[in-house]
Amino acid sequence: MSEKTINALRTLPAVDQLLNSPTGHDLIARYGRSQTLDALRAELDSCRAGLRAGKSIASDLDSIFERTTRALENTFRPSLRAVINATGVIIHTNLGRAPLSLAAQHAIREVAAQYNTLEFDLDEGKRGSRLVHAGSLIAEITGAEAALVVNNNAAGLVLLLSALAKEREVIISRGQLVEIGGGFRVPEVMEQSGAKLVEVGATNRTRASDYERAITPNSALLMRAHASNFKMVGFTESASLDEMAEIAHRHHLYLVDDLGSGALLDTAQFGLEHEPTVQESLQAGVDLVAFSGDKLLGGPQAGILAGKKVLIDLLKRHPLARAIRADKLCLAGLVATLDHYRKGEALEQIPVWRMIARPLEDIRSTAQNWAQQVGGTVIEGESTVGGGSLPGATLPTALLALEVAHADEYMDGLRHANPPVIARVAAGKVLFDPRTVLPGQENFLMDSINSQRT
Ligand SMILES: *Cc1c(COP(=O)(O)O)cnc(C)c1O
Repeated sequence: MSEKTINALRTLPAVDQLLNSPTGHDLIARYGRSQTLDALRAELDSCRAGLRAGKSIASDLDSIFERTTRALENTFRPSLRAVINATGVIIHTNLGRAPLSLAAQHAIREVAAQYNTLEFDLDEGKRGSRLVHAGSLIAEITGAEAALVVNNNAAGLVLLLSALAKEREVIISRGQLVEIGGGFRVPEVMEQSGAKLVEVGATNRTRASDYERAITPNSALLMRAHASNFKMVGFTESASLDEMAEIAHRHHLYLVDDLGSGALLDTAQFGLEHEPTVQESLQAGVDLVAFSGDKLLGGPQAGILAGKKVLIDLLKRHPLARAIRADKLCLAGLVATLDHYRKGEALEQIPVWRMIARPLEDIRSTAQNWAQQVGGTVIEGESTVGGGSLPGATLPTALLALEVAHADEYMDGLRHANPPVIARVAAGKVLFDPRTVLPGQENFLMDSINSQRT
């Protein structure tokens, strides 16, 4: 060992000295005594090991604290955390689907921090029901007689089928038995309810008469599942909801519709295809519609069932309803989100709709502004709605394109920036879509890009 190494080893501070210093106290206040002690010990051990191995390691107090602080930050960084979505996929299922409006965030914070009326009726001064909070609002907005909110749409489907079709037949088109992502298939989810699926038609064509012919005394429901994440083109045919409703009702059966995305506004006004809306399904005579709270509705994760009051009442009383009920944070966020629709301000206030409605010129000027700050060029591109809605539909956008030497490495660096940035690569260029970057994130994005080596 060199003189220098021996000296460095001898002058390494004792762990107590570090703990009792002002920075040590600061770390204890932030991370607790035992985590700080462990981290300091680990740091000193690694200094010693490195020095003995002949490495040159900065072992002054500042360097030791700097490395310890970084280690503690890593230990306490939650795996679920905010990222910047620069992919241009608006409802990105892997990135948490819909970011919430300001009003929804405030409502959640208020209910989270305080006691609240989750199951308390202020007028009567006694126990109330959590089901009142969003139910009547959804009914008002969609034109349904009644509605029920559960944990998510998949859970809502299982509840609906358990309550209405256990050990009975549910008639559904073969072309609609789809996989909804994460390896989950509609038929497998549905079968959890004990309902028996009866597939009719061919993959590409199902006629109204196919449903009618499949009806038996053991039939409970006709069902439609919206093909939300794929598109069939060419020689295709499907029965309309009006036709299906007519057949179902003539045979004293119910018609249920798994809409998936659950748009309440018309997407066609933005040059997109028309995503079927909840209101249209109900108007066509569907008895129960099922949709998500965090897709095109733009609210928190939830499953919403809306339709006939007799059916909703039946679902509410089913034991499964208790197992998959929505929590107070979800309900608070959902009510605040629904209020944007009531007030006619959804396009301005709900982030997913604001992104869909954002004018191309506005996006281009943001991209140009970014290019001025971090270099690169502005090119034409496409954003997608994503999240099981409008498969294949795109919105014209403007992208910041950066030429980098190694795109994979660069993307890895971006993902490990703080906050992490998720971008796209095409033709060796890294692409950033302003459409999905939230207003408050722009400066962080510029910092993250500037901190990368191109
Ligand atoms: C997304 C989707 C579901 C699942 O909804 P979750 O809220 O994610 O449980 C079910 N059916 C269809 C058609 C969907 O698009």
